Amino acid sequence: MSHIFPRHTKSAPPVAVGGEGCYLLDSTGKRYLDGSGGAAVSCLGHGDTAVTEAIKAQLDKLAFAHTGFLTSEPAEALADLLIAHAPGRLDRVYLVSGGSEATEAAIKLARQYWVEKGEPQRGRLIARKQSYHGNTIGALSAGGNEWRRAQFGPLLLDVSHIDPCYDYRYRAEGESPEAYGRRAADALEAEILRLGPETVMAFMAEPVVGATAGALPPAPGYFRRIREICDTYGVLLILDEVMCGMGRTGTLFACEQDDVAPDILCIAKGLGAGYQPIGAMLCTSDIYDAIAGGSGFFQHGHTYIGHPVAAAAGHAVVSAILDRGLVDRVKVQGDKLMARLQDRFGQHPHIGDLRGRGLFRGIELVDDRDSKAPFDPSRGIAGKIKKAAFEAGLICYPMAGTIDGRSGDHVLLAPPFIIEDAQLDELVDKLSGAIDVAL
Ligand code: PLP
Repeated sequence: MSHIFPRHTKSAPPVAVGGEGCYLLDSTGKRYLDGSGGAAVSCLGHGDTAVTEAIKAQLDKLAFAHTGFLTSEPAEALADLLIAHAPGRLDRVYLVSGGSEATEAAIKLARQYWVEKGEPQRGRLIARKQSYHGNTIGALSAGGNEWRRAQFGPLLLDVSHIDPCYDYRYRAEGESPEAYGRRAADALEAEILRLGPETVMAFMAEPVVGATAGALPPAPGYFRRIREICDTYGVLLILDEVMCGMGRTGTLFACEQDDVAPDILCIAKGLGAGYQPIGAMLCTSDIYDAIAGGSGFFQHGHTYIGHPVAAAAGHAVVSAILDRGLVDRVKVQGDKLMARLQDRFGQHPHIGDLRGRGLFRGIELVDDRDSKAPFDPSRGIAGKIKKAAFEAGLICYPMAGTIDGRSGDHVLLAPPFIIEDAQLDELVDKLSGAIDVAL
């Protein structure tokens, strides 16, 4: 009997024993094409020796030094590398162990910033419905995924959730994408005014929404207007690129394509590419200086922040992404993936929307293409696709739609950046077969 406490307790998962390139191998010898990089993690694929060698070298030198006393060479080097490529005025890097730690730290940093600035009344966070920012209490409070939040209601912070920017569902007939983008962003201004601008500390959003909406990009101009609104009312903009960052959408940071830079940026997943647990929160010098010139201490911190081995892995991963031209490759392979999805599913009666950027793509399933009516949740379409795909040797990331009927079941695809054309064919073939089984 296993003593592992698994995610799903009703079935025992196969045992992973190896990984090579875009494939994972289980103990029975079965191979799985990693069509979602786990959950947009394995951007370099499996078994990248440049990264494993960097980890081994760091382990031989220094495994751990507590950041309460010391910094380390790999942590400094990773921070320098990230800032050299970061958008806008991001200037400081706080290294953590994963995505939830990054978003949780961002929420607390935003709050502490206002306390240090002498505006302690700013304590309200605004985020969006159909978002996911992690599973710790603050991050879960910021997220709008009702399924994940449901049983923790009494523990959650009072965060406002505005409508997402969701062209397929929310754009009115005859409305241009630009007009819709502006209207969707203006919901933030309305909420700031409703709460009282002097009480709002930050707005948090994923530039391209991942797990809860299936690679949902913003409408044109949406984030430029969001930035404008934040600036007008002095609200901090926190962008969560835990899933969509690190080259996944065809630029190193997803927000570059929307021509905005945040005050705080969260990254994880692709930063360690699965080789080590690592995330980071980047902030501007304004925010850093408020704390450095004030209390001098960010009232936060976990034992493993700035972990030298994780930082060495992160440095090797970012170097690989940059030095091997993988961001450009994401654009090329991403376009090919989208073309294959269009070919296969463009006229499919139960596929309402194909979307995303780069190698971050989503498919939204509907019961009726004309009315966009989602499938009845009791049909469990997403779960059936996941199971059928897995049996066929494909790992993808299907999620159930939201209960209020405003989104359908969807499948998120986020394969490694090294994916070859033949593997794109295999991915689409296996996914198509799984959708047939599920429907
Ligand atoms: N933010 C986003 C956008 C995510 O997609 C996720 C994870 O899926 C998180 C935060 C949480 O990251 P982690 O699972 O590493 O804690």
